[in-house]
Amino acid sequence: MSIDYCTYVEPYLECKVETAQKPHKISSCTNEKCKEYERELWNRKNFCDSCGTQIGEITIMRTESKVSQMEVREEIKEDLCCVNRLAEEDIWVANIGRQDKNARRFHLDHMEGVEGITHDMMVAETAEFIDQYRHALSIIRGHYGPESVTIKWGIVNSIH
Ligand SMILES: [Zn+2]
Repeated sequence: MSIDYCTYVEPYLECKVETAQKPHKISSCTNEKCKEYERELWNRKNFCDSCGTQIGEITIMRTESKVSQMEVREEIKEDLCCVNRLAEEDIWVANIGRQDKNARRFHLDHMEGVEGITHDMMVAETAEFIDQYRHALSIIRGHYGPESVTIKWGIVNSIH
């Protein structure tokens, strides 16, 4: 397995994540008194190693984000990608291949170079970002809630 380390220097979306308890079906020991109860089993066993009760499907509750990144990605046709899922927020950046009038490269390669950034550039890039991704932004606001989405400009480090 390899690790990708990316740095984005550009406008991004900070989306506050609301969580909810969601039901999940898992394969587990079906004896509620057993210590293995509600522990997910991945191997195909018929009986519990601990108590000998039959293994079956049970429903457990898990804390999950109310927003499915997969659904959002499909709806916005991957115009933006979620590079970080932090505990309480998702960070979305423009997908690579973005067309910008100013032609600045937003995705840094590991090469030598200096690129000065002024406040005016940040303002112009943010305006362009809003303009270019208007449709995706409205879909994302719809999923997270309009109050939960903030457009920012900054440096986003992503490891995946
Ligand atoms: Zn058991």
